[in-house]
Amino acid sequence: MPALHLVNVTLEYPDGESTLKALDGVNLRVDPGSFCGLVGPSGSGKSSLLAVAATLVRPSSGIVSIDGTDTTGLTDAELTSLRREKIGVVFQQPNLLPSLTAVEQLIISHHFSGKPAAAARRRAAELLDVVGLGPSLNKRPHQLSGGQRQRVNIARALMGQPRVLLVDEPTAALDHERSQEIVQLLRRVTDEFETATVMVTHDTEFLPLTDSVATMRDGRLSVPALTEAGIKG
Ligand code: ADP
Ligand code: MG
Repeated sequence: MPALHLVNVTLEYPDGESTLKALDGVNLRVDPGSFCGLVGPSGSGKSSLLAVAATLVRPSSGIVSIDGTDTTGLTDAELTSLRREKIGVVFQQPNLLPSLTAVEQLIISHHFSGKPAAAARRRAAELLDVVGLGPSLNKRPHQLSGGQRQRVNIARALMGQPRVLLVDEPTAALDHERSQEIVQLLRRVTDEFETATVMVTHDTEFLPLTDSVATMRDGRLSVPALTEAGIKG
């Protein structure tokens, strides 16, 4: 079963007197443990696709299923809890709170309903270890490099044990070496946590680390046949 499944998804924005189709009949399935690269020109709809997959924006038509749940009929409250339980999102800018340490960034955004704080702290420390920041648990954002801040961002997205990990241009603000390390980390995280990962990128040189590459153009997605069949690459 795909962890993320989009069927004939369309997203329209009002555009003066007419409408703009940011997504136009998009089909995509991503299985657990599969890492999908998403490329395409600026304005082609990549971020719109992630927003819809993240259930942050409802599509104008079509179906978004997360871990087997069709989200179409869910209330906003149900969508919010599904998102907390199943979806991790990493944006280009880490958006960390300046006064908090790395471990606190993870704890504050965690959503273990009713679980003791000690468990959250333990998991946060484990995840920071996974992303290579074990020795920097207590550093604040200004004491971390850009690459390290993006690692905190990725660890934070994993706190809720997501089935789907959505990543929008994670390397846009980083140099080449740091960028490569971040994409390698996303590969490792996808394997280790069996997330269905979609990464928007314009760094085509890192695409060999993914299992499949989908291309967006004018709101339409073209996906290689193997991905459509849900076969892990
Ligand atoms: P990409 O991430 O590939 O650059 P986007 O998904 O951001 O593309 O944008 C796709 C299209 O939708 C663009 O034409 C953009 O201007 C438009 N768009 C994106 N967000 C909005 C919005 N909130 N309101 C209106 N139009 C939008
Ligand atoms: Mg974008």
